[in-house]
Amino acid sequence: MPVSTVELNRMRQSLVSGLRLTFGSARKAFATGTNLAPQPALETLFRGKRGGRPTGLEPATARITIWSSTIELRPPLNKRPSNKPRSAEVEHKFNGAGFKPKSRAGDAGWQRGSNPLVSCGMKIVDSMAAIQRQSTTWVRSGEVVGLVPTMGALHEGHLTLIRRARRECRRVIVSIYVNPTQFGPKEDLARYPRPRRQDLAMCRKEGVDVVFAPQNLYLPDHSTYVEESACSQGRDGASRPGHFRGVATVVLKLFNLVRPTRAYFGQKDAQQVDVIQRMVRDLNVPLKLVIVPTVRDPDGVALSSRNRYLSPDERAVAVEFARRLQLAAKRKTNPTAWLKTELKRIAGLRVDYVELIENRLCAAVFIGKTRLIDNQRLKP
Ligand code: AMP
Repeated sequence: MPVSTVELNRMRQSLVSGLRLTFGSARKAFATGTNLAPQPALETLFRGKRGGRPTGLEPATARITIWSSTIELRPPLNKRPSNKPRSAEVEHKFNGAGFKPKSRAGDAGWQRGSNPLVSCGMKIVDSMAAIQRQSTTWVRSGEVVGLVPTMGALHEGHLTLIRRARRECRRVIVSIYVNPTQFGPKEDLARYPRPRRQDLAMCRKEGVDVVFAPQNLYLPDHSTYVEESACSQGRDGASRPGHFRGVATVVLKLFNLVRPTRAYFGQKDAQQVDVIQRMVRDLNVPLKLVIVPTVRDPDGVALSSRNRYLSPDERAVAVEFARRLQLAAKRKTNPTAWLKTELKRIAGLRVDYVELIENRLCAAVFIGKTRLIDNQRLKP
C-alpha cells in the first residue's frame, strides 16, 4: 500500500523550503541512501546531496511513492528527461529492527557500473516460463499489473497506451510479438517491420518494467484456437479470414501468461476491441480492459506501423482518406454512402469496406499494396 501523501506532506511541512530537487540529483541522493530504511532515505533525499542544506521537494519536479517495501521515484509526466530511464527504484527488505537492501543484481537490464540497488529498469524476457514466473510473483504480492500487447514497430499510438498503463499500474509489461496466426498466407508477415532495438529503447524510456518479446508462442503441434463468432464477422473478419481467430488466440495466451490486472488496447482497431471485449466477457477472463482513443499525426492520419510502407504520394492519399472519414462522421444523413462515393473519387485508393457499426463509421482501404483501417465516432 502506498503511504505517500500523508507521510510526504508531514515531512514537507517540516522542511525549510529551499532548493528544488531535480530528478537526477534526487536519484543520486536516493542511491546513497539505499542502506537506510525508507524514512531515513527520504530524509537524505530531502537534505540534498551536499548535506546540511535543506532541499524542498516539489511535486512538480519528482513524483515519489512509498510502497510498503519499496520507494519509487519518477520524474513528472510532462518533464521526462529524454535519455534517462523513467523510474529509479530502491528496494528495501524489512528485516527485523533494520532494513537490508535486497539485491536484484541478477536482473537483466541493469546498467553495468551503476549502483546495483537502483534499477535502471527494464527486463527483457523471451520465454513463456520466465514471464509466467515474473508475473506470478507480482500477482501473488497483490500488485496491479498492466499489459500492453503489441506487434512492435512502436509509435506514439503504442506509447500512449504504455503511458496510460504506467499511470495506472504498479507494473507494466509490454509484449512485442508479430503473431503469425493472425496473418493470411498472402499478407505482410515476412515484411512486417521489426525494429527491435528502437522498440526496446522506447520502452525503456517510458519506464516499462518488462518487455516480453518471445521468438515463438506456439509449439509445433499447437492445435487449440479461440473463435469468437459474432463480432468477428464482416469488416476485417471478411477481408482477412482467420485474422480474429489468430488475434483472440494470441491475446488469450498473453493474458494467461501475464495474468494482468488491466490490459490496454487502441480504439484504432475497432473490431479487434469488439472481439476482445466479447471474449473477455464470454470466457470470464478476470481483468479490466482499457480502450485508448486513436492517436493521429497532425495531418489526421491514424498512426500505424504500416504507415511506414507508404511512399510520399501514397501518404498524401492517406491524408485524404483520413480527412474524408472525419467529414463523413460529421454528416447528419447517410454518412456511409457519402464516404463510399467520396473515397471512390480519390486516385490511388481502393475501398475495401465502409460500414457503420453502432455509432462508429469504420473503413478499410488499399493505398498501393498497403491496407489501412480507421474509424470515427459519428459526431452528434
Ligand atoms: P499493433 O502493434 O498494431 O498490434 O498495435 C498494438 C496496440 O496498439 C493495439 O491495441 C492497437 O489498437 C494499438 N494502436 C495501434 N495504433 C494506434 C493508434 N494510432 N492509436 C491508438 N492505439 C493504437
